[in-house]
Amino acid sequence: MAKKNKPTLQIEAEKCIGCELCEAECPFDAIHVVDGVAVIDYEKCKVCRKCITVCPTDCLYLEGVEEGEEEKQPEIAVSTEAGEYSGVWVFVEQEDDQVHPVSWELLGRGRALADTLTCELAAMVLGHNVQAAATESGYYGADRAYVIDDPVLQRYRTAPCASGCITLIRKYKPEIVLVGATTLGRDLAGAIATELQTGLTADCTGLDIDQETNLLRQTRPAFGGNIMATILTREDRPQMATVRPRVMEALPRDESRSVATVAEPLGITEDQIATKITGFQPDTDLDAPNLQYAEVICSGGRGLGNPAGFKLIQELADAFGGVMGASRATVDAGWISHDHQVGQTGSTVRPRLYIACGISGAIQHLVGMQTSDIIVAINSDPNASIFNVADYGIVGDLYQVVPELIRLAKERNLKEALLGQTTSG
Ligand SMILES: Cc1cc2nc3c(=O)[nH]c(=O)nc-3n(C[C@H](O)[C@H](O)[C@H](O)COP(=O)(O)OP(=O)(O)OC[C@H]3O[C@@H](n4cnc5c(N)ncnc54)[C@H](O)[C@@H]3O)c2cc1C
Repeated sequence: MAKKNKPTLQIEAEKCIGCELCEAECPFDAIHVVDGVAVIDYEKCKVCRKCITVCPTDCLYLEGVEEGEEEKQPEIAVSTEAGEYSGVWVFVEQEDDQVHPVSWELLGRGRALADTLTCELAAMVLGHNVQAAATESGYYGADRAYVIDDPVLQRYRTAPCASGCITLIRKYKPEIVLVGATTLGRDLAGAIATELQTGLTADCTGLDIDQETNLLRQTRPAFGGNIMATILTREDRPQMATVRPRVMEALPRDESRSVATVAEPLGITEDQIATKITGFQPDTDLDAPNLQYAEVICSGGRGLGNPAGFKLIQELADAFGGVMGASRATVDAGWISHDHQVGQTGSTVRPRLYIACGISGAIQHLVGMQTSDIIVAINSDPNASIFNVADYGIVGDLYQVVPELIRLAKERNLKEALLGQTTSG
């Protein structure tokens, strides 16, 4: 029988791309990227194999493992506690009786995850007079709603809302908790994950269940959007992720579905909360475009050549009854405000019609708009990447093409001709 050597971590330096994923993953600070190549600190390395599991080029491997053993999948440690956790939960974000649609989108994805895990899908509803939101969560797929209804929760504050969520999570132990990556959701999710000492993956673009381990595969762009990283929360519970609006799709609203409700007390009183609300001023910036839920978006890129080009894009948007979007290059150039930016560091959109004018189609732009129903691209370069995702591509000078589109939109109802081919909406 072959003698079993103590395994050591090795690296094929020529394969290493210096992506730093191993460095970020190592729990023992035993691997560092120096001059673009990963370097192992053998004093610190405990051969836990975590770096091997994340290496995108397979340049890390174990030496000294008994023949046949090297093919073994790295063991994924799941804490003994993990078994106690079950169920997929979605935080239902609501203010002034208005539920943010991202909550229904997350229930849509949550339904698929829960069905794969054969567990319950639940909504976590906190606020004051929120029974309607709880009922509505059933129409969008939840089996159960955990509700904390308390006047203290009338307006969002981090401390009481996080405290209520943490109480529910500790008591009912969901395996997965999903929160919308809105301003409120980002604040809340971070506070919950910190208190529960669990992992949180922000701005996921994909959520799936790993077939072998049943862990949540949380996919999101990394390294400036150049790679998609899939992140697992192996040991801590719940597994938490935020997802931006319009990334996932809500299920059709179904009033025949009912939801079981579990009511719990908040457990803290107003005098225990440090922050006080002295007044409330809603955001009244009427000029800010509502990109995320727009039906039609007409976007301009650096191909416009100058800021005045956005007047033409606004005319196009008006002709199609839509709103104006932009690429980051134009925002960085100061041609238009960041409110209009579509993409990884702007808004994620899913309109029925997206018209891209003078936009090259960089991956960071595409991740924010490629799930649009119909994409029309106008670009003078026939090899522009935007044409790879376009349903209709027009090769030409936008200053000739766009006025013609405006004319056709006004005279021949081009919008309906294009949208008539989509099934949604
Ligand atoms: C971390 C990170 C995050 C990012 N986030 C975002 C983001 O959220 N959103 C985003 O958009 N980008 C983002 N970027 C930037 C992205 O990589 C690109 O640089 C940017 O999208 C390019 O914008 P553009 O297509 O307008 O410009 P360019 O790439 O310069 O393309 C201009 C296009 O216009 C065409 N053109 C020129 N003249 C004409 C004409 N007269 N008629 C028709 N076509 C013409 C050209 O052929 C070209 O294809 C990010 C980058 C990084 C590193």
